[in-house]
Amino acid sequence: MRFDVVTIFPGMFGPVFEHGVVGRGIERGIVQVHTHDLRDHTHDRHRQVDDMPFGGGPGMVLKPEPVFEAVDSIRPHNPGPVVLMEPWGERLDQNLATELASEPGLIIVCGRYEGIDDRVRTGLGAREISIGDYVLSGGEIPAMVLIDAVARLLPGVVGDPESLSQDSFSTDPAGWPQFTRPADYRGLMVPDVLLSGDHARIKQWRRRQAAERTSAHTKELNKT
Ligand code: SAH
Repeated sequence: MRFDVVTIFPGMFGPVFEHGVVGRGIERGIVQVHTHDLRDHTHDRHRQVDDMPFGGGPGMVLKPEPVFEAVDSIRPHNPGPVVLMEPWGERLDQNLATELASEPGLIIVCGRYEGIDDRVRTGLGAREISIGDYVLSGGEIPAMVLIDAVARLLPGVVGDPESLSQDSFSTDPAGWPQFTRPADYRGLMVPDVLLSGDHARIKQWRRRQAAERTSAHTKELNKT
C-alpha cells in the first residue's frame, strides 16, 4: 500500500517510519511512504503556500493551487482516495482504519495554519479525517497516526497475525492486561493464574479482564 503525504514539513516523517512495525513493513516492500513538499508546487519567488482568509479573520489558509497540483502529480502513482487531516473530520477509529487498509493507497494532505481552502475538499472529493477532538498545530502528526494505524493492518507487516486479532477494538474495545518476566518485581506480582499453565483458566481470566476494561471504557465514553 502506498501513502503519499503532502506537507510543508516533509522532514518530520523520515525517522518516524524508520522504526518498529511500520519500518519493517517498508523494508519488506509492503508499505511505501512518499512525502511531497507543498512548496515544490508553488510558482512564485517566495514559494508561498498560504494566504489571508476571504471574509477576514485571524490567521492564514493553505491555498488551493499548490495542493491541487501536488495531488495531480501524485495521481498517476497512487489511485487511492484523497484524505485531508482536519479536526472536524470523521473520527479515526479501528473500523475506519480497517476500511482504509483495503484501499490501494492514500493521498494524505496535512493542513497548517487555519486549515485548507475548502475547494480542496469539494474539488478533489476528499474525505476529512480527525484523530480526535482536540486541535494540533498541523496535520503531520495526525497523518503519522493514520498511516501507522492502517499500515500495521496490512498482511505481513505485523509479524504474528494473531496479535492483530487479539488487539483492542478488533473484538472487544479492550485487550487484557499483559505481563512479562520477572514474575515478582518490587513485590508487584504477576497474577497467579498466568503462571499456572492452565490454558482454559488463563483464557477465561483474560476474557473477564478484557470485559472489565471494556465496561470501564464504555462508561468513560458515555460520560461525554
Ligand atoms: N483553526 C482550525 C484549526 C487548524 S489546526 C480549527 O479551528 O479547526 C491546523 C491543521 O492541523 C489542520 O488543518 C489539520 O490539518 C491539523 N489538525 C489539527 N488538529 C487535528 C486533529 N485533531 N485531527 C486531524 N488533523 C488535525
